[in-house]
Amino acid sequence: MTHHKTIDQLSQELTNKALTPQTLYTEYTQRIQNVEPHIDAFLSTFDFPETFNMKNNSKLWGIPYANKAIISVQGKECNAASKILEGYIAEKNATVTDKLQAAGALVIGNTNMDEFAQGSSNEHSAYKTTKNPWDIKTVPGGSSGGSAAAVAADECVFALGTDTGGSIRQPAAFCGITGLKPSYGRVSRYGVMSYASSLDTVGVFSKTVQDSAIVLDVITGQDEKDMTSIPSPDISYEKELKNFDITGKKICYIQEFLDLPGLDPQLKKDFENSLQIAKDKGAIIESVSFPLIEAIIPTYYIIAKSEGSTNYHRYDGIRYGQTAKDSKNIKEIYTKSRSEFFGDEVKRCILLGTTMLSEGSIHDYYIKAAKVRRLIREFFDNLSSQYFAILSPVTPTLPFTFGEKTKNPLEMYAADIFTIPASLAGIPAISIPTKRYDNFAGSLQIMGKYKDELSVLQLAYFFEQEFQFERLHYKV
Ligand code: GLN
Repeated sequence: MTHHKTIDQLSQELTNKALTPQTLYTEYTQRIQNVEPHIDAFLSTFDFPETFNMKNNSKLWGIPYANKAIISVQGKECNAASKILEGYIAEKNATVTDKLQAAGALVIGNTNMDEFAQGSSNEHSAYKTTKNPWDIKTVPGGSSGGSAAAVAADECVFALGTDTGGSIRQPAAFCGITGLKPSYGRVSRYGVMSYASSLDTVGVFSKTVQDSAIVLDVITGQDEKDMTSIPSPDISYEKELKNFDITGKKICYIQEFLDLPGLDPQLKKDFENSLQIAKDKGAIIESVSFPLIEAIIPTYYIIAKSEGSTNYHRYDGIRYGQTAKDSKNIKEIYTKSRSEFFGDEVKRCILLGTTMLSEGSIHDYYIKAAKVRRLIREFFDNLSSQYFAILSPVTPTLPFTFGEKTKNPLEMYAADIFTIPASLAGIPAISIPTKRYDNFAGSLQIMGKYKDELSVLQLAYFFEQEFQFERLHYKV
C-alpha cells in the first residue's frame, strides 16, 4: 500500500527502483476507482501519458497529482465545473502544468470545484458534489474541494488548487491536510481561468509541509506570459525548511478574530493551544488589534465579484462557451447561452459585479472597496515588518453539512473571514492540521510577509513537528 505516502517517501522508492512511475500510476488509478463512488472528487481522470521522460530529474518525477479543473492541461477538458465550458478542451498547458511536466510529475485527473472557483463548499459545481472523506454528510470546503478531498482520501499524492479568498486554505482545513497559498504573483496564472484577477493565486494541497515546499520549488518563477508574476528567490524552500529556530521570534495574532461570536469554542481553544506551544518553545506572542474586521467580507466580495463579472464577459456563447440553441439574433445568443449555462453563484456574481461597476455605483462600491483594500494591505505589511508571522484560525467552524449555507449566500461568504485578509493583502499563508476532534481536524493558519514563503513554511514545519497530527487513512 503506497497510497498514504508522501512525495518525499515515494520519490525515494522511485529512485531506488522499488517502484516505477507506471506501477505507481496504476495503483493510484485503481485507488481512484475504489474511492470515487463514495467521494466524487474528480471530474475526469487520465491515462498514463504516451510520452514520458524516463530520466529521473526531480523529486516530483513519477509522482501522480490531481489538478483543479480550472488549470489548463493540454488536450484535456477544462470546464471549471461550469456547463458553459462543457466539452472545452484546453489548447495549451498552463505554465504550472508545463513546469510540473518538465519535473516528471504525472497529472492523474481534473478535480471538482465550485463553478469558476466561486464558493466555499463545492455545492456550486454544475456536475457533482464532492463529499468530505471524514463525514460524507459534510462539505469538503471550496472552491478547491475536489483537490482537497482527493489528497485527504489518498487518491493522489498532492494536488493543485487556486485560492482567491481562501479556496485552498479552507478546504485543506476541512479535510485535515496542508494547503499553501503563496504570495500573489509567486506562481504564474498563465493558463488558469480567472475569477478575480487581482486576488487569484495558484497553490498546493499536500500531506506534509515538506511536500508543499517540494512542489513550490518546482512551480514558482517569473513568467513572461503573466505580467503580475514575480521573480523567485534563489533558494530551495525544501532545503531551507528545517533551518529555523523559533526562540525569540515575535509572532502575533489578531484579538478581534478570537472575539468573533461565530468562532466555534473548540476551535478557539485549539488555536490558543497552538499559541501556547509556540510560547513554550520560546516565541514571543503578542495580540494586536485589527479595527477593520467588519470591512473584510464586504471589501473582498465587492472586489472579487466585480472582477469576476468582468472576466466572465468572454463566455458569451460565441467567443467562448456553449451556444444556446434556437437563438434568433446575437442578443439572444448572449442572453440564452448565459442564462442556460451559468449556475446561480456565477449569475449572482455577474449581477452584483456589473451593478457595482456601473456608472452610478462605482464610486460607492468598487472604488471605496479598493481604498479599504489598500488600508488592509498596509495594515498587514506593517504587521509583517514587526512580526515574524501572524497566526489565526482558518475557519470559524468545523465542516458544515450540505445545504446548511446554500440558502443564505451571506452566511456562506462569512465563512471566509479568516482567509480573506491574506488574499486582499497578497501575502503568503498556509493552513495545517493541528489535532483530531473525532473525525475532523483543528487547523492553524500562518500568514507571513509578502514574498516570504520560506518563513511561513519554516514555521509551519515547526508546528507540524510539535502537533504530530495523526493522519487517518480513508478506508473503502
Ligand atoms: N468563497 C470565496 C468566493 O467565493 C473564495 C473562493 C476562492 O478562493 N476561489 O469568492
